[in-house]
Amino acid sequence: MRFETKTVHVGEDPDFRDGGSGDVVVPIHLSSTFARSKVDEPTAGYEYSRSGNPTRDALEARFAALENAKYGLAFSSGMAAEATLCFSVLKPGDHVVAFDDLYGGTRRLFDRVLAPNAGIEFTYVDARDCENIRCGLKENTKLVFLESPTNPIMRLCDMREASDIARERGIITAVDNTFMSPYFQNPLDLGADVVLHSTSKYMNGHSDSIGGAIMVNDEELFRAIKFNQNAVGAVLSPFDSYMVLRGTKTLAVRMRAHAENAQKIAEYLEPHPKIDCVHYPGLPSHPQHELAKSQMSGFGGMLSFEIAGGLEAARTFLENLEVFALAESLGGVESLIEHPALMTHASIPREEREKVGLGDGLVRISAGIEHPDDLIEDLESALAHVG
Ligand SMILES: *Cc1c(COP(=O)(O)O)cnc(C)c1O
Repeated sequence: MRFETKTVHVGEDPDFRDGGSGDVVVPIHLSSTFARSKVDEPTAGYEYSRSGNPTRDALEARFAALENAKYGLAFSSGMAAEATLCFSVLKPGDHVVAFDDLYGGTRRLFDRVLAPNAGIEFTYVDARDCENIRCGLKENTKLVFLESPTNPIMRLCDMREASDIARERGIITAVDNTFMSPYFQNPLDLGADVVLHSTSKYMNGHSDSIGGAIMVNDEELFRAIKFNQNAVGAVLSPFDSYMVLRGTKTLAVRMRAHAENAQKIAEYLEPHPKIDCVHYPGLPSHPQHELAKSQMSGFGGMLSFEIAGGLEAARTFLENLEVFALAESLGGVESLIEHPALMTHASIPREEREKVGLGDGLVRISAGIEHPDDLIEDLESALAHVG
């Protein structure tokens, strides 16, 4: 079955749902508990909704299908998925090698929760060059954690090479694939062991649900993560499971529109005299454009750029936009714009930020699915305010 068909059908087969009533949309099973006819066996397979729920099961089947995985799990947020993964594969004294340009919340989880409270050690490397991953590995390394492209500077990691390096040493590779969605990139097919998503972004796609996903092929790993998810209770609610099921149905058409708009915006900004540089993997000027073409089937809806004049210019520009909403988050149908240094990445200390090139003039766009001319006109009029 092809991607678009899977997004519409997997998990919602009318024959198998709700006693054969034939609903084409999976019902929202709000029940917290499920009755049984015999004491020693759950009659319909369900006991209690933290452990398993029919609406969430439908979504988990779809998650697995979209990443070409055997197993999918739906979490209460992307961070809940990351934390549960870490507690499933790491123990005190273990070491993690991670890309140095990660989602700000991931850095907060690693540096301010897992390092001090769980005794886990982290080394951040510039994973654009996989040799840096190899050099970062230690005797006690148990996990390589990547994003590609990274947030917000759109740096890529060669996932085939990175997973090979990790696998040789028996180390798990996990990829946060939130930025590309499974429509443009499938890390498990490139050799990764675990793929994660914040479904709050493209998977749900409408900025109205917080959720997370993990997809894996290895049964033992799946069982370990599922055990921990149930133990800590990091599950997605039935209502949000329904929302994400509904959102994923349009994932392919939305992603095509996001990418088309992002490409047009990037091409508009690149030659603009008030813009110093544009980071978008779909531009031939992107230093890893060839790698992007080899591991992604499109370039996604995210881009960032440096505005000439630093913080003051960025502030003037951002506060004069009308179509773009000045807001954190990404991946919704509406175009969003934000200032990473003051907003999404503010929790990262300044010197860490500057080390990875995340300066005060950097602006990040999540291109929505509006008409591209309205977006470009909005950018143009806000740029005209910049002195
Ligand atoms: C938003 C985001 C997360 C965290 O997900 P939540 O659903 O907000 O908990 C993790 N990684 C990336 C790349 C994100 O954009």
